[in-house]
Amino acid sequence: MTNDKNIAIVGAGMSGLCMAIQLKKAGIDSFTIFEKSDRLGGTWFENTYPNAGCDVPSFLYSFSFEPKPDWSQKYSRQREILEYFRHCAEKYEIIPHIRYSSSVQQAAYSEETGDWSIVLEGGWQGRFDVVISAVGQLNRPALPEIEGGDTYTGAAFHTARWDADFDPQGKDIAIIGNGASAVQIVPEIAEQANHLYLYQRSPNWVAPLNNKPYSRLWQRLCACVPLLAQCYRWWLFWVCDSRFVAFRQGEPATWIYTNWLSRYVKRQVRERSLLDKLLPTYPAGCKRILLSDDYYAALQRDDVSIVTDPIQSISAGAISTDDAQPQPVDAIIYATGFQTSELLAPMQIIGRGGTSLAEHWVEQPGAYLGILVPGFPNFFTLYGPNTNLGHNSIIFMVECQVRYILHCLRAEHATTEVSASAAADYQDELRRRLERTVWMADCSSWYKDASGTIINNWCGPASEYYLRTRTPKWQHFENSIGYSLD
Ligand code: NAP
Repeated sequence: MTNDKNIAIVGAGMSGLCMAIQLKKAGIDSFTIFEKSDRLGGTWFENTYPNAGCDVPSFLYSFSFEPKPDWSQKYSRQREILEYFRHCAEKYEIIPHIRYSSSVQQAAYSEETGDWSIVLEGGWQGRFDVVISAVGQLNRPALPEIEGGDTYTGAAFHTARWDADFDPQGKDIAIIGNGASAVQIVPEIAEQANHLYLYQRSPNWVAPLNNKPYSRLWQRLCACVPLLAQCYRWWLFWVCDSRFVAFRQGEPATWIYTNWLSRYVKRQVRERSLLDKLLPTYPAGCKRILLSDDYYAALQRDDVSIVTDPIQSISAGAISTDDAQPQPVDAIIYATGFQTSELLAPMQIIGRGGTSLAEHWVEQPGAYLGILVPGFPNFFTLYGPNTNLGHNSIIFMVECQVRYILHCLRAEHATTEVSASAAADYQDELRRRLERTVWMADCSSWYKDASGTIINNWCGPASEYYLRTRTPKWQHFENSIGYSLD
C-alpha cells in the first residue's frame, strides 16, 4: 500500500471526516484537513437554526463503520448529529490533522513536479501529491437580490447563519422561502412570534415525517446485539432506495406517490384558499420532497400568514409585494437555500495547462462518477457533481466515493487521471438517464442549473452507485498501468 502520499483534504464536514477516517484505517497518516471554520462538522456546525435536523433516519444517516445504537429518535436534530461527527473525529484521532480557520483559495497542479500547490487565504502555501475536495454542495448560502434588501434595518439573516442572540418572542417575522430548512423552522418560529409571514414562491410536496423517540429498550438491544442495528440500517436503506422507482417520469409509481401526497395535503388542509396555495401542480419529487409532522398545522394558525404574491422590494422596515400594502416586519429570515450551481466555488482549482475547473465546467459541471475530472490528475471530489440524492442517505454515497478514492490511492499509478473519453461517455449516459427522471418535470429546483440541466443529482438508485464505484475500471484512466492491491 502507498502510504507516503501527502494528501490535502478540503473541508472537515461529514465527507472530509469520512475520508480522513478511512485513510487512517488504511494506515495512511500523511494528510491534512483544511477547514475554513474554527470547528468541524460542516453543514451540521453551520446550520443551528431552531429545530434544524435531518430528515434521513439517523441509523442510515451515520457512518456504516461507526454505528450509534443510542440515537435518541428516528430523525435526529442538529446537535446530536454534530456530536456524533465530533465523536467520530475524536475516536479516530482525526482532530490533530485538522487545520482550522484555513480557507483554501487555490489549488494548482504542476506538470513539472506532478504535485499540487495549495494556497490559503492569508497567503500560506504548501505542496501536496493529492487533493480531495470535501466541500459538498450546500455550503454557500444563497441570498436573493431583492430591491432595497440592503436598506432593511431590522434583524435579517440566512438560516445557515443563524443569530444565536435573536429572540423571536413577540415579534412580527418574515420567513422567505419554504424549502427543507423552512419546514423545520416555521413551526418553531410560529410558536414564538407575534405573527409569522411566510413568503412562498412555489409550493412543495410535503410528506409526513413520523418521527418518534427510540425507547431505552431498543437502544440497549441495538448496543448489545450489533447485528440488529445493522439489519435495521439495511432495512432502512432498501426502503429508501426502492423509492427511486417513483423518481422516473411517467411511471405508475410516480403517479401513485403524487396522488398519495395530494390526498395527504387535502386531509391536512381543509380551507380551500389555503389548499390552493399549498398544492403543487408538478409531480412529487421534481423538487426535493419535504418531510414534516407539524408544518401544515403551523400554516393554519391564526398568527401565521402565507404570502404568495411575489416580493417586489424591501424597505427599512417592511416587505412589499405586488398586490398589497407594505408589510412591516421586525425581522427577516432568509430560508432561501444555497448556491449550488458553481460547485467548489470560490476555490480556484487549476489543472493541466493552467485550465481552471471553472473554465472546464463553464457549460456544466461534471465529473466521472462525481469524483474525477479529466485534466485534473490526483484531484478527487466528494459529494461532487451529480452525486446528490432525493431518496436516500448522502453518507452512503460518500462512503462509496471514499472507498473508490482509496482504490485509486493504493494503485501503482504515478497519477490518477480519468480519460477525457471515459468522462464524456459518462456524461452522455448521465444526460440520457436524467432526461427520464421526475427532476426534469416543470418545476424550479436547486438540482438544475440556469439552463435546466440537472447538475446535482445522481441518475439512479444509491445501490447502483455502489456497484459502479466498487472498483475502478482502469481502462478508463490515462496511462493505465496500475492495479489495485486488494
Ligand atoms: P431550498 O430547498 O433550495 O429552498 C429555498 C427556498 O427559498 C425555496 O422555497 C425557494 O423558492 C425560495 N426562494 C429562493 N429565492 C427566493 C426569492 N427571491 N423569493 C422567494 N423565495 C425564494 O433550500 P433549503 O431549504 O435551505 O434546503 C436546501 C437543501 O438543503 C435541501 O434540499 C436539502 O438537501 C438540504 N437540507 C436538508 C435537510 C434535511 O433534513 N436533510 C434540512 C435542510 C436542508 P422556489 O422553490 O420557488 O425556488
